[in-house]
Amino acid sequence: MPIVVIDPGHGGSDPGAVANGLQEKTLTLEIARLVRDKLESRYIVDARLTRDADVYVGLSARADYANQLGASYFVSLHHNAGGGTGFESFVYPGTRNTETGRRQDVLHNRVADFFESYGFPDRGKKEANFTVVRETAMPAVLLENLFLDTQADADALKDQSFLNALADAVTTGIADALSLSS
Ligand SMILES: [Zn+2]
Repeated sequence: MPIVVIDPGHGGSDPGAVANGLQEKTLTLEIARLVRDKLESRYIVDARLTRDADVYVGLSARADYANQLGASYFVSLHHNAGGGTGFESFVYPGTRNTETGRRQDVLHNRVADFFESYGFPDRGKKEANFTVVRETAMPAVLLENLFLDTQADADALKDQSFLNALADAVTTGIADALSLSS
C-alpha cells in the first residue's frame, strides 16, 4: 500500500503566519488531519502526518520521516502571508519536467479549481528551494493555501465547510496524482 506523508507546516514554538485571528500552524494541522482521514476512508493508502499535535518539528526531521518510511508522496501544507490573495504550489527547482511536476500539475489543478470556484486566483505552479521539497527523496510539493493577512482569504479559512471542501480537493488531487485505488 502506498504511503503518503502529509506535512502540516509549522507547529509548537513556530506559529508560522499569524493574522486576522488565525495561526498558520493551527490551520495546517486541521486540514492535514482532514486530508489524512479522507484519504484513508476513501482509498487504499497509508496516510501519515509529520506532526499530529501542536509541536515543533524541524524541517529536515520532516523530510527524514518521509524518507525512512519510504513514502510515495510528500505534501506540505502552508498558508501564505505578506500581501496577496489566492493559491500557489511549489516543487524543487528543475523538477517541473519530472514525475514531481506531473503530480504537481494534477494536484495543483484540482485545488486551484476549488479555489477559483470561490473567486480566489491561481497564482501558478512554481519552484522554490524549500528544505522539505529538497531533502525528500520522493516527489514532494508544498501548497500555499490563501493569505492569512488578506481579509477575504482569512474569512474563507474561518469557515469550517470551506476547510472541509478544501480538504476534499487536496484529497482528490493526491489520489488522482497517485492513481490510488478506492
Ligand atoms: Zn508556512
